[in-house]
Amino acid sequence: MTYEPVIGLEVHLHLKTQTKAFCGCSTEFGQEPNSQVCPVCLGFPGSLPVLNKTALDYGLKVALALNCQIQEYTKFDRKNYFYPDLPKNYQISQYDLPLSKNGFLEIALDGGKLKRIGIRRVHLEEDAGKLIHQEDSSLIDFNRAGIPLLEIVSEPGLNSPGEAHEYLTTLKSIIEYLYVSDCDMEKGSLRCDANISLRKTGQQDLGTKAELKNMNSFKAVKEALTFEIERQAELLNQKKTVVQETRSWDVKNLETVSMRTKEEAQDYRYFPEPDLPPFILSPDKITEIKKTIPELPRDKMLRFVKDYGLSDYDAKILVATLKDANFSEECIRLYSKNDKKPIVNWLIGPILYEANSRNCNLSDLGVAVKDLIGLVDFVERQEISYLAAKSVLSEMINIKDSPANIIQKKNLAQISDIKSLELQVGEVLKENPKSIQDYKAGKGNAIMFLVGQIMKKTGGKANPKVVQEILKRRLSNA
Ligand code: ADP
Ligand code: MG
Ligand code: ZN
Repeated sequence: MTYEPVIGLEVHLHLKTQTKAFCGCSTEFGQEPNSQVCPVCLGFPGSLPVLNKTALDYGLKVALALNCQIQEYTKFDRKNYFYPDLPKNYQISQYDLPLSKNGFLEIALDGGKLKRIGIRRVHLEEDAGKLIHQEDSSLIDFNRAGIPLLEIVSEPGLNSPGEAHEYLTTLKSIIEYLYVSDCDMEKGSLRCDANISLRKTGQQDLGTKAELKNMNSFKAVKEALTFEIERQAELLNQKKTVVQETRSWDVKNLETVSMRTKEEAQDYRYFPEPDLPPFILSPDKITEIKKTIPELPRDKMLRFVKDYGLSDYDAKILVATLKDANFSEECIRLYSKNDKKPIVNWLIGPILYEANSRNCNLSDLGVAVKDLIGLVDFVERQEISYLAAKSVLSEMINIKDSPANIIQKKNLAQISDIKSLELQVGEVLKENPKSIQDYKAGKGNAIMFLVGQIMKKTGGKANPKVVQEILKRRLSNA
């Protein structure tokens, strides 16, 4: 039996506001437990919430970037449940009138074709506190309680773990461009629940889904979905039913395990939050927020392709984060040749490699754009070898000096000077009479051996092309 996986993702984002969603407490991460609390976020009787304007603006900004329809009239609701991390015994969320609905996000499939994934809704809510479980007790930190969360719910329109992964990276890139969340899964500022069901290939109706939680990286989401596809397929093949439930990803054993049967909306007894007014989102307000949305990654990628002649592949790598995109664009613009390939190859090659190995953005390497361009020019003029240039680059990052100074200090300039190379070639020929015979006997690769010897003698600084020319001439005259 073949099945089609059907996946819908719920992404929760911490919005990068200074203060919490409904009170003035700080949202700063990593502070002393319970040092950022007040009567509102601790749920004291009589305290009243006030909506954080920036949280609303950020939420609208994301919703607009995801092509959602903004609701003219939006309100908050109480989602009731009891849990120790929830001091009020309800979460302020949005139920039937979320701030936006019916958007979409386009993801690139293998081969570059775009697929439009529906966004069901984007709504605002608040985070709960954090439980810290110890051996024989549990501790609670309420600093996180009340931090604004944006929930982005997709339609069940993704059909493989790979598509889910692409959706998440595309979404994260957009959110980073909007500058409204750190999107750091390790700090919990981006969390993802994955809903998945299987249906017989060709069937329209959706199968029964499981909701997967506790994946702390995009890779884990992909792994958990892959595991779940196999588990559900096996059940269906044995004519058993898939139970609708919440399952947790166990990173150690690489499997999903049942947490609880899934609760229904009615279990939460949603009702309108009586302490907050409904909000009217005027067209003026929406126009104003729209103006704050910058050029988004896909548009920037297309522009790089059009304006600078980059391939889709290279452009996509360079625009992944706004910081890298800006830095790359400056390098490309200031690079004086019309053919931008050399600078682009350095950006997506050695420079990106250095940034990745330091886990930072290109601009954080602390190397000036003009120095990077200078380095690429040295290579293009064949004044230093590619290999030497890579070591100059890491030196530029480490000691923050110009390429010219480093090349001089380390004596890395490539030797293209015919006179001095003639001398070296003469010596090597004298030392290797056997190779000369081999060459004359028709063994063409003897010449490569001799080039190697000269490279060795010059510490890799000889210009191999020039060396080869000299050798060829001298061997045919010998
Ligand atoms: P719930 O009420 O269980 O939270 P929702 O209908 O709100 O379910 O949907 C939550 C998420 O699950 C959405 O992203 C949606 O696309 C996805 N989803 C809903 N039904 C299915 C299904 N049968 N298979 C896969 N995903 C689904
Ligand atoms: Mg839901
Ligand atoms: Zn507070």
